[in-house]
Amino acid sequence: MSDCIFCKIINGDFNTEFVYENEYAVVFRDINPKADTHLLVVPRKHVESLNELDDEFLLGKLMMTVKEAAKKAGLKSYRTVINTGKEAGQEVFHLHIHILAGSIKL
Ligand code: AMP
Ligand code: ZN
Repeated sequence: MSDCIFCKIINGDFNTEFVYENEYAVVFRDINPKADTHLLVVPRKHVESLNELDDEFLLGKLMMTVKEAAKKAGLKSYRTVINTGKEAGQEVFHLHIHILAGSIKL
């Protein structure tokens, strides 16, 4: 998706640092952190939201990526959030999982 900010990040257009990455997803810091540590786990494949995801395998890989990225970031305790749809607060329509740790302002 050429007009998707997360696709551009995945493509390397903004030189965003990936704190973790694998075959299925990249993980980078949220630009407007709502916690001491606020990471976003983003599938390499463009999927608008959880409602458009029909790939159970990818869903499993994304959750494993949450765990692996949290471990790499030294987090033992963290909250995961998926906003689905505008009314629920989704702003970027490329599926992502928030990882929040420390003092959480949500
Ligand atoms: P959501 O509201 O669930 O769609 O979350 C989108 C998140 O993406 C927000 O927390 C934003 O702060 C974050 N965000 C938007 N643009 C960028 C960017 N260029 N780099 C990192 N995070 C971003
Ligand atoms: Zn995208």
